[in-house]
Amino acid sequence: MSIVQALIEQVGVEVAESGHAGNVVALDLIIGRLSGVHVDSIRFAFEVLSPGTLVADAQLRIEQPRPELSCRDCNARHEIEEITVECDSCGSRNVTIEGGTELLLQSIEMEEPDGT
Ligand SMILES: [Zn+2]
Repeated sequence: MSIVQALIEQVGVEVAESGHAGNVVALDLIIGRLSGVHVDSIRFAFEVLSPGTLVADAQLRIEQPRPELSCRDCNARHEIEEITVECDSCGSRNVTIEGGTELLLQSIEMEEPDGT
């Protein structure tokens, strides 16, 4: 819940700074698969918290990047679904996991002023 609360506040600040007067149409979020954040609970919290705010009518678009394993022995890189400690290519355990923990607001789409 608090993540979404903070998100809505962040959107409010950014919209105010942009000087736009229209409604927010959509929000693009990036939530890595290893971030520990469940997209369903984000959507649920958003539905609960958004009414009455400037994102009340906004559509949530969520992207979930996969983490990538990189192997120090054979230099292979794989996108992975879950944390693993072994390289798929050579079986080495000399690997690092990169990415997948992102949690950020990518962009805010505003309604265009209709000019009437
Ligand atoms: Zn390898």
